[in-house]
Amino acid sequence: MSAHPTLSGGERTASAEIRFHNTMSGQMEPFVPLEAGVVRSYTCGPTVYDFAHIGNFRTFVFQDVLRRYLKSKGFRVIQVMNLTDVDDRIIQKSAAAGLSIREYTDKYVQAYLDDRTALNLEPPEYIARATEHIDDMVKLIERLTKKGFTYTSEGSTYYRIAKFPAYGKLSKIDVAGMQTGARVDMDRYDKDNARDFALWKAPKPGEHFWETRIGPGRPGWHIECAAMALKYLGDTLDIHSGGVDLTFPHHENEIAEAEAATSKKFVRYWLHAEHLLVDHEKMSKSLGNFATLRELFSHGHKPSSIRFLLASVPYRRQLNFTPESLQGAASSVERLRNFASRLRAEKFPEGSSPEMAGRALRAKEEFDRGLADDLNTAQALAAIFDLVRDANTAMDRGEFRQDDSAVVLTVMENFDAIFAVLRDDDADKLKALGIAPDAPTISDAEIESLIAERQAARKRRDFAASDRIRDELAARGVILEDSRDGTVRWKRK
Ligand SMILES: [Zn+2]
Repeated sequence: MSAHPTLSGGERTASAEIRFHNTMSGQMEPFVPLEAGVVRSYTCGPTVYDFAHIGNFRTFVFQDVLRRYLKSKGFRVIQVMNLTDVDDRIIQKSAAAGLSIREYTDKYVQAYLDDRTALNLEPPEYIARATEHIDDMVKLIERLTKKGFTYTSEGSTYYRIAKFPAYGKLSKIDVAGMQTGARVDMDRYDKDNARDFALWKAPKPGEHFWETRIGPGRPGWHIECAAMALKYLGDTLDIHSGGVDLTFPHHENEIAEAEAATSKKFVRYWLHAEHLLVDHEKMSKSLGNFATLRELFSHGHKPSSIRFLLASVPYRRQLNFTPESLQGAASSVERLRNFASRLRAEKFPEGSSPEMAGRALRAKEEFDRGLADDLNTAQALAAIFDLVRDANTAMDRGEFRQDDSAVVLTVMENFDAIFAVLRDDDADKLKALGIAPDAPTISDAEIESLIAERQAARKRRDFAASDRIRDELAARGVILEDSRDGTVRWKRK
């Protein structure tokens, strides 16, 4: 073991080895980028045919935690994110609205970027619109054609998957019994329909198309990401991430395109985020349990609570999104913010306590160990909340010293470099989006009278009524704290 740098306090810190779960191997692997100190990362961005829903943002928050974490470990991150601003749905919807593709998608591109800002998602180094990279896609298709991986039929160009024996290696799909030459034109299809897929689609009457060297038409979805990843990141990427539903066919097809063209490994680590469930059902538009960020904001949910909730569940676990979990996230953020302001504002007795310095260092190490373990955000957060509890107790007992504040604040700042929830700027963010949440208008007198009513209910052991009043107050932005001596304190959120 090599010696680690020494902290000023004489304490040693050990940096945990970073390990990620690679979908390709199905295993945890130590993360070592191709070029020392640099991470080249590709993110499948949204298809901008509508407002992105909360399920999409689960993946985007995961990708933000990933990049912030790698940066905090000293890596230079080069992240590319595409915007799919041409696909089957966009063509249909823009035509139905009587707008050009650009006019139709501009609104949703802007909304998406604004939503990202509200959730404190750092901008990737490159944001690439598909329609601005048509020539790169045409060039890639030409390379594939030259190597014999394509054929044309009725003006469209298809990828011949029989020519790429490794096809299926990411999604583990079995292509043995597949009929050669069977084709699929849709951008999205399931494993049962694995076929030769369209790289370039001939225009249908009335559809928008580009006039190119490979004929008039428009690109398929999969060629878009492959072309842009190769253009900005080179032949081999360190990380490619996305939602688990992109594994097949999208990422499988990207591999087939990129590796056939370059004869090199396309991606070294594939990271896939699990689904977000709403009341135990998969979030999707077709199921109707669709919630955009804006809907949640206008119902009074804060950007910070949503970010916290989405980040708090490790990305490979399904996340069940419920009003209660959102409420829980809001109080967690509140607790962390209160603690940080206490550290900054409260005056403690002079000096420092070695116990607290050791306690803070332990929390930092535990936090690091959690994130190094395939971004186990739950473990990392537990380390922080334990520290908050212990430090609060020490403060209440008068055992916390003035110089401990700076030490503990450093741990909190390190936490916030990744979770990004401590700044109390939710109101400003909503204002920037032009959203005025349904403000809870409830007077102090009304609150007091409801609390009295609840106390009476508790006295006669009618806990259903008591809970109902508590929930009603919570919905109107008032939080109750029952103390041991039976009194109730309240505060506005
Ligand atoms: Zn993609």
